[in-house]
Amino acid sequence: MQLTIAGTGYVGLVAGVCFAHVGHDVTCVDIDEKKIELLNSGVSPIYETDLSEYLREGLERGLLRFTTNYQEAYRKSDAIFIGVGTPELPDGSANLSYVASVARQIAEHVEHDCLVVVKSTVPVGTNDKVEQFIKDSLVHQVQIQVASNPEFLAQGTAVHDMMHAQRIVIGVEDKGAEAKLRELYAPFNLPIVAVSRRSAEMTKYAANDFLALKISYMNDLANLCELVGANIEDVALGMSYDERIGSRFLKAGIGYGGSCFPKDTKALQYLATQYGYNLRTVRAAVDVNNEQRYKLYRKACNRMITFNGIKVAVLGLAFKSGTDDLRESPAIYNIPLLLDQGALVKAFDPVAEENCRRQYQFSMEYVATVEEALDGAQVCFIFTDWPEIRSLQPSRFKALMRTPLVYDGRNLFNTRAMLEAGVEYYSIGR
Ligand code: NAD
Repeated sequence: MQLTIAGTGYVGLVAGVCFAHVGHDVTCVDIDEKKIELLNSGVSPIYETDLSEYLREGLERGLLRFTTNYQEAYRKSDAIFIGVGTPELPDGSANLSYVASVARQIAEHVEHDCLVVVKSTVPVGTNDKVEQFIKDSLVHQVQIQVASNPEFLAQGTAVHDMMHAQRIVIGVEDKGAEAKLRELYAPFNLPIVAVSRRSAEMTKYAANDFLALKISYMNDLANLCELVGANIEDVALGMSYDERIGSRFLKAGIGYGGSCFPKDTKALQYLATQYGYNLRTVRAAVDVNNEQRYKLYRKACNRMITFNGIKVAVLGLAFKSGTDDLRESPAIYNIPLLLDQGALVKAFDPVAEENCRRQYQFSMEYVATVEEALDGAQVCFIFTDWPEIRSLQPSRFKALMRTPLVYDGRNLFNTRAMLEAGVEYYSIGR
């Protein structure tokens, strides 16, 4: 089957390389010429485990190509996946302008019957609008079906998540679209949940917002644990044996970030409000997260009289390990607070440094190792759970830092081991 994927971001690119990996003929379209040039030369613009290998394999087998020529790509496709961004607008709603512009381009250029699959995370009812819009604007008289196929991959494990998804959700309004999607996904041999388009759209928000809720719940409890003298990790361990709760997403920390949870929680709230409904649980999760990201900084302010002229080691910039994505990363919220107060920041991140240099003009020094960041530092903040940071011996903080004062937003170290190593150590909920 000839597939076209619109958008070569985390979702579109990963879908493209994985579809090629299982033998489909895939054309990936983007409007960003630099990205397309890079991809055609076999270089991935984003960091994800196995992504580069799959990319080169697809190119070598001739099953994968990248282009900005959407006219040609949409003209001949059997199925077109829309995987462009749906970022947050100032009012919290999802910006659907990128999805709309792909829909317009499809309507203007598609020349034979085609299935349009919306992979982007979109508010309930968007698929209906996409279908109506394309049908209203078609230049050639062809049959178009629209299906929803939300993506559940997590950054950091994106390729694995697509190849071994726990389920594939498809939202369809007719049997033909369902059959085509089942055929497309058959080589993956994964469970498929086929529901209505609106239910599929809702499932994506429901899943993401539930995970955000779980995180905020644990962070809320962690804050209470600190006040009452309990340890959130012990509490989480005790909870995790209950199969109704499960053992994942029970880790307290500095709050969620990334391109999905923050915007998808707000978008669902916005949708609810439009229908006159107050989604109180999700609102609470957002409120907790907005405060949690400053938790360490506030703790440090209680201890420090000033940051002016203080050497600060910032360990981790990405919103989580395994990715170079800085969107809504706790580090990105906290670094300006430190710099505004006159801190002298040395930052370490194994993959996100380049992104940070490009996107932010922080006046701080970037260093290549954890040790360089810690050398002579008076305070250390840990924002990302990179293995390079986690594997550090507690004694290294003591040996390298001028004053071994550590604020850990990921609870990477044993509190007793840090104490025994002579480190003044603050973490979350313990
Ligand atoms: P992204 O911002 O990384 O990439 C979007 C890409 O679309 C960019 O490369 C952009 O240049 C391109 N684009 C914009 N307009 C275009 C057009 N008209 N034609 C072709 N390309 C165009 O976005 P992402 O993180 O991959 O997310 C895409 C969607 O998937 C969003 O709705 C997001 O919520 C959802 N999603 C993301 C993740 C994730 O982990 N990032 C997971 C599941 C779902």
